[in-house]
This record gives sequence, structure tokens and C-alpha cells, in this order.
Amino acid sequence: MTDTTALVTLTAAQMAAKIKSGEVSSRELVEAHLSVIDSAEPSINAFLKLAGDSALEQADAFDKKRAAGDTEDMSELAGVPIAIKDMIVTKGIETTAASKILQGWVPPYDATVITKLKAAGMPLLGKTNLDEFAQGSSTEHSAYGPTHNPWDTERVPGGSGGGSASAVAAFEAPLALGTDTGGSIRQPGALTGTVGVKPTYGAVSRFGAIAMASSLDQIGPVSRTVLDAALLQEIIGGHDVRDSTSIPMKVPAMAAAARQGAKRDLKGMKVGLVKELSGEGYQPGVQARFNEAVKLLQDMGAQVVELSCPHFEYALGAYYIIMPSEVSSNLARYDGMRYGLRVMPPADVPQTAANMMAYTREAGFGDEVKRRIILGTYALSAGYYDAWYGSAQKVRTLIIEDFNEAFEQVDTLVVPTSPTTAFKFGEKMDDPLAMYMNDIDTIPANLAGTPAMSIPAGLSDDGLPVGFQFIAPQKRDDVMYKPAAALEAALNEQWGGPIWKSLKTPWLAK
Ligand code: GLN
Repeated sequence: MTDTTALVTLTAAQMAAKIKSGEVSSRELVEAHLSVIDSAEPSINAFLKLAGDSALEQADAFDKKRAAGDTEDMSELAGVPIAIKDMIVTKGIETTAASKILQGWVPPYDATVITKLKAAGMPLLGKTNLDEFAQGSSTEHSAYGPTHNPWDTERVPGGSGGGSASAVAAFEAPLALGTDTGGSIRQPGALTGTVGVKPTYGAVSRFGAIAMASSLDQIGPVSRTVLDAALLQEIIGGHDVRDSTSIPMKVPAMAAAARQGAKRDLKGMKVGLVKELSGEGYQPGVQARFNEAVKLLQDMGAQVVELSCPHFEYALGAYYIIMPSEVSSNLARYDGMRYGLRVMPPADVPQTAANMMAYTREAGFGDEVKRRIILGTYALSAGYYDAWYGSAQKVRTLIIEDFNEAFEQVDTLVVPTSPTTAFKFGEKMDDPLAMYMNDIDTIPANLAGTPAMSIPAGLSDDGLPVGFQFIAPQKRDDVMYKPAAALEAALNEQWGGPIWKSLKTPWLAK
């Protein structure tokens, strides 16, 4: 194994430890990942934009600080590089949300999470690919070509955050940030064998996250291990006066919970199985890994009870009304006036502002984004508002009540992350409803604002990764980290090591 391969296959926590002990510099870590990116990208396409030079500058600045002994306020992941979903704005680095309408836009400011990562001494490797404006479940809706799943490059990595998930799975980055509106961190995590966390709504600032559906959007960590996700969430979390939905609360002790979980003792913990989200419609290999994981939780002392969340079956329908309604409003700002693309009408068409907007939006948005803008505009229109948007909001309340009742009985809920493993390119592109069905297990948590995370639960019969999801009560993100870390440790033993280590990586030097 070369030095590069040995370095990039460490966990982020291990990399940080090597930096602390002086065994490796931040520059060496950045260089190692840039070289993997160089060899992996032709087959993976996880990145839309690389920021190698500025990453090296950030690494050098950090290494200098460390050499000077200025380490007092060093974060637990100081010096470790990270990739950023291109839905999050980065000062001086082109940010497009994988849309033509933002091509060439260089933000003049950083999102709060980016400011925090910089303060934590974490170099930014670049911006990762996604479905346009985070709308999709496969990354095929990117205006810049799809990302490939490192487990099988003929298959999708999930979406919308397929770029961040594939980058972390392929060892192009030890960590990444994603955004999750209906599952875009967790479902790609499941399909690529990585860990993906959607924090409590309001626990991580959305300032500088490009808005898709503001009442559902949440930034969160992508990693290979539960502990790495916890460490990252502690860095990006916390109250932010620039986000009016941000919750003024102490960041929960998630890393401590993960470390506790690694001891594999879950006595006293109550785990709820949601009857409505398993069984029929689940790929047999996915259901089998799910059942085995539940058994492992039981073996570690958890008490497992089956319970019912009767309104979950309406979650998908409610989401696909509420989300497009918010999309239609949020995406009205791309009008060719303020930033990004501007397309003037042809000479024989009146040169009015309205025509310019129409031509710009026609050329700048892809089909899926247009579909949602039209759907949302319809759902919000005068005669249909109560019937569609109003009803969907009522369903949302019923789902929140289902969660409240469930959390009176149990500490955490467990459900599969996705009904299937990674599917082939093109398989669901002609059938939007089939694509939307991917989100059936992830959407309830977004509608209720509860934290949720997906961890790898082994491989299905087709040799592809399966995800297992924990959901915890609002503001108690720490509660899911403990059983997640316990299950991760138990699964590592069962599978002879982490799933992500068994990935075949022809792009890594032997
Ligand atoms: N796949 C879901 C959708 O298409 C989720 C998107 C997201 O979480 N950003 O809306």
C-alpha cells in the first residue's frame, strides 16, 4: 500500500490524531486527497469544482499555526480536509447548485457552516455534484452530468447529494457536507455505504445554504464512520443569528455519545420499529440486512418494540405538495436580473423584462426543476390552495403527532433508509413517481424536523450497500449517535471490518 492509499483510507478521527501527534501535516493530507481525486474523477465525477490551490493554502496556514504551538483552540478535526455540496455557498469558489442558471456565479460570502469549517482549520477540497437545486434521488438531474457510484460505476449514487457521498466512499475526501430536504444526505449514504446525518431542523445554520424548500432544508455531515459524523456535526452546529429558524441551544454531546456507543452496551434503550415502513415493497436483501441489524441491537441489550405511525403513509404525498410549493417561491429569484444566466429573447420577440425572464428560465432550468415549479405554482394558486397546500400542511401536523406519540414510548426509531440498493442509470428517469418513491423512508423526519441518520448495514445479495436509519426526537441528536455507533461496531465484527473498506478501488495506487 502506498503512503497515499494508507492515508486516505483512515477515518477522519484517525487523520486528526496523526496531525496532532505531528506524524502527518495538513498539507500532506490535502495532497493525498487531491491525487486520489485526480485518478478517481474520470470514473466517478463527484466534483463540479476543485479548489486545490486554496485548500493547500488553508492547509499551510494551519500547519504554520500548529508548528508555532498555537493549538489551544484547535478543533477535533483540525487540519482534516472536507468536500462541500455545491448547494452551499463558498466565497470565491463558483457555486452553481448543479444548474445552468447559476453557471459562473462566484459567491461574495461564505455560508455560516463554511465560516465554521475555516475557523476549525479544515481545508475545503472543492464543490460536489448534485441533482439540480437538490431535486432528485440519483444525481442524474445535474446539469453537468451524473455522479457514478464507486460500488458499480454503471449505477447511481443516490441523490441529490450523490457527489458528496461518492467522494467520501471513493476516498476522494474523508468528510463532506450535504443538504437534506427529503433525504438527500441519507439516501445517497445508503446507496454508497457511507454515513449521512440530517440534524434537527434548526440545529445547523442554513445561512448560505441555497434554498430549495426552506421549512425542510437542513445541512448535515457525510462521513465513513459514526464518530466522524458526530465530530463534524459538533463543529458546524450551533445557534446563528443570521438564520431566523436556528435554535438557540447547546450543541448536543454527539461525539461522547458515539464513543459511549462503541462500547456496545444498549441496556435500557428502547428502540421502535415503524410497522408502516418495512416489509412489502422492500428489496429482499435490504429487508434481510435490516432485520439482522435489529437483532444486533437486541443482542446489545436494546428493547425493541413494534409501533405504528399511521400517517407516515401520507408523508410522501404531503412532501411532494409542500416541497414544490416552497421551491416555486424560492426559485423565483432566478430571473436573469440579479445573478447567473441571462438569455435575451431573439430579435423578433419584444425585448421586455418579462420575455427576458421567460427565456432565461427556459434555458437555465432543467426539466425536473421546471416540473416542480409548475406543480408548486399550481398547488399554491388561489382556487387550489386549501385543497392541496392546506391539506398537506394538516398531514404534516399529523405526522409530527405520530412522532410525538412514538417518542413517548421509545428513545429512537429505526427504519430502512431506502427500499432498494443503487439502481442503474436511466432506470427511473422516465418515471418521476418511481424516482420519488426512493424518498419514502427519509421524508417523515424532514416533515417533522427530527434528526435522522443512515449508517451502512452491510451488503445486499447484489453486493451493493444497504442503509439503516435511526430517528431521534428533536434537539436530541445525541440520542441516535449512541445506538448508531454500537450497531456500527457490531456490524464491523460481523462483516470482518467496515463495509467501506471492502470497496474495490482501482483508482487507488496499490
Ligand atoms: N430526493 C428528494 C427530492 O427529490 C430529496 C431532495 C433533498 O433532500 N434535497 O426532493
